[in-house]
Amino acid sequence: MNPKIIIVTEFPFVDPEPTEIGPYNYLSEFMDVALTSNGIEGTTFSPTEPIEAENAKSAIDALVDNICAQLTPDRLNLIGISMYSATARYGFELAARLKKRANKARTDIMIIGGGSLFYKQSLIRDGKTIADSIDFALAQNASNGIPILDGAVFGGLQAFIDISRQIGKGNISKNEVFFPTKLPNGYYFKENGIVRGSGISLAAHMDYAPFEITQFPSGKFKISAMYSNLCQNACYFCRNGVPIRFSTDQVKYGIKNLIAQLGGDKEKVKYLYQCDPNPFSPINRAHTDECMEIVDSEIGHTLQKIVFYDSALFADPEQVIVDTTKWGIRQYGIGRETATEHAASFIGEKYCGRIKTQDMLDAERRGIEEVVGRVKKLGKRIAFELYYIISPNDTAETLNQTFDEMGHFAAMTDNCTIIAIKFALLSPNPGTTTLSQNVDLICQDSYATKTSYDRWDGNAITRLYPNSVFPMLKRNPLFSDYSDTWQYNPTFHKAVKELH
Ligand code: SF4
Repeated sequence: MNPKIIIVTEFPFVDPEPTEIGPYNYLSEFMDVALTSNGIEGTTFSPTEPIEAENAKSAIDALVDNICAQLTPDRLNLIGISMYSATARYGFELAARLKKRANKARTDIMIIGGGSLFYKQSLIRDGKTIADSIDFALAQNASNGIPILDGAVFGGLQAFIDISRQIGKGNISKNEVFFPTKLPNGYYFKENGIVRGSGISLAAHMDYAPFEITQFPSGKFKISAMYSNLCQNACYFCRNGVPIRFSTDQVKYGIKNLIAQLGGDKEKVKYLYQCDPNPFSPINRAHTDECMEIVDSEIGHTLQKIVFYDSALFADPEQVIVDTTKWGIRQYGIGRETATEHAASFIGEKYCGRIKTQDMLDAERRGIEEVVGRVKKLGKRIAFELYYIISPNDTAETLNQTFDEMGHFAAMTDNCTIIAIKFALLSPNPGTTTLSQNVDLICQDSYATKTSYDRWDGNAITRLYPNSVFPMLKRNPLFSDYSDTWQYNPTFHKAVKELH
């Protein structure tokens, strides 16, 4: 008998205080079609209804209830959870809670993790390359000792389809899943501490679509778009996921479908959150311009856009201003990372594969200043979100330079132009060069419970950061509540100034 499949579609717990979780319209339908056309009927998606929650804990409570209400007691329930670095801890918590509830009710469930978190192979141990996601996905136990994941899909939805088909045909049972010879390509698991499985599914990434719409309980829509997630910079800390580029035909088809979803009422669409990590880079610009043109002309007006914009491209402020006005850009996400070449060299902040020099970083800073100054004169409300990384080789001097820059940019905020500054400590995220370069310094167990910086092994701090300001930061109570990112504020700045 085919297993019952439940896919968790919305997992927006990155915001510190999530209040709304909406079921996907477009993406759920897309996945349902993909599964049905592969002979897998009756897939359900969770949440089935919009969920309002005060915080991440109550959102997970509600999701657990929602999924448990869909479990079928007389057959295997295959639950797909997609997560990436920032949502991993919530995904693991959700998985552990589901296991506990299902065990109690004696319902058979199997949880499969998917998403960019499970994509890259970069963790190297004893000279062998293994998929980092597989290693931690299967090695991790929840605090109650119940294994929280039974397997990991590697290479898109196809492996998920394959495994459920095999089970449905009776070729393998849930328990037999752990025999590698019967597994489809792209399915990995850990047996007696050894990672088994092979290949990457060759099927298209059916779990991706260029557009998503989420309707929140308030009735508003969130529309996200992604045309390409290719980037040629190759920063060490980058956690960009599966390389994808949608064709202009796919984008056209997608936007037409999206409008149909809205009953043709194009006026409902005002904002577009564009998720491409580097849409205006040399390898992407022409494609991005073409896709943006298609979307705006199908909608019939210029959408207000939220985009990521490579900080290196601010060295040409004129082009940024042209893009701002041409495309109606209302918010920029900019990975500035650091003000100094010294820190850039360790974290691997690059442009087109080469570590940025001080001259490049200075040109960027001047460009950002010029763009902000010129945008103020446009009289439109435009926001710039600048992200920084504190590096292991930052010294008190370089950190002060970076913080002085943050303070300088923050002070440029006025009623119309907003400059928000966020910063984080360098983190060994799954799939990154930062992780593979420092594989011995990572606490594997931390992936189930922690995010970002806390994944470093305790002893690694002194090995990795012997001469840096990190130990001093850690001793400062202002920094002791570190979770994921800090917002710049003058109190931090003062604390950094006092570092010796
Ligand atoms: S600019 Fe760097 S961090 Fe951003 S997507 Fe490209 S490689 Fe990744």
